[in-house]
Amino acid sequence: MARRRSAVRIGVTGLGKREELAPGVFINTFYRGCTPGFIYTEEGIVLVDSPLIPTQAMDWRAQIEEEYPDVPFLYLINTDHHRGHALGNQYFLPVKVIAHERAHKEMSGYTENFKERVRNSFKREPEIQTQLNNIVIVPPHITFTQRANLLYGERRIELIYVGGHTPATSIVWLPDESVCFVGDIVWVDQHPYMAQGNTLEWLRALAFLREIEAEYLVPGHGPVCGVDATYRVGEYIEFMRGVRDYYRAGKNKNETKSGLVGEMLEWFPVPPERKAKIESQIKSGLNRVFREIQREEEEASGKVTAGLDDDNEEDFD
Ligand SMILES: [Zn+2]
Repeated sequence: MARRRSAVRIGVTGLGKREELAPGVFINTFYRGCTPGFIYTEEGIVLVDSPLIPTQAMDWRAQIEEEYPDVPFLYLINTDHHRGHALGNQYFLPVKVIAHERAHKEMSGYTENFKERVRNSFKREPEIQTQLNNIVIVPPHITFTQRANLLYGERRIELIYVGGHTPATSIVWLPDESVCFVGDIVWVDQHPYMAQGNTLEWLRALAFLREIEAEYLVPGHGPVCGVDATYRVGEYIEFMRGVRDYYRAGKNKNETKSGLVGEMLEWFPVPPERKAKIESQIKSGLNRVFREIQREEEEASGKVTAGLDDDNEEDFD
């Protein structure tokens, strides 16, 4: 029954075929930026996340229409507001997008400058860069804050806010099929993107995934895994929370970052051409965790401090 694979596919640009995890529940792991899925219901299709690269988004749409010709798209759920999950929304219109209300806030704030940065991130791949000349941001039409259920005939689709990776991160749980789209809460053999994270929430989200005992976890990036994959991510996050030792030893943020970044790079495979990028992502993550720990320590000592949400890093994954 299980079709778990753990191979890493970084930088895949192909248009490989979808796989069916349970009757009418499909994913595609061949696209850059996210592993999108779709769920057939009696009344239409519910999509989870949208590929960022236009040719891949259009390929995905064609694959869904090939599987279920003439079935309308009901909803597209974004597990977070990051470019890899939500910038392809425009290719599935007139679908209605659903996401956490914080995703709406973030996406409504995407400027021309943001679009330019997205294009620039592909400057070494001009054929992709030019595809991104007409980015249209489609923020969620429908938002929720904690939970929402989509109930169509036999199909039960639960949207559950977990936070952790971002203040908008939500998972999509199909209890009857035991499939859970976990967004960027789980990363397999890759460094998680932490720069908008909250580590305590993240650890709680991982614990929740173990509690529901999903057979298939569909991570935001890469192939399907099982609950076992949650442990490595949890250890990584616990390791990052080790910034507390530096904080207590009186080290500042930069000293903490240089103390930890080398060791952190060792946690997951890093292809040489991505090393600089991953290293800077780890540092952004350490900045974020440093502030979180600082806040915890200050609160413990009775000081009042600003919330974490006030200083988000740039959106990426
Ligand atoms: Zn993300």
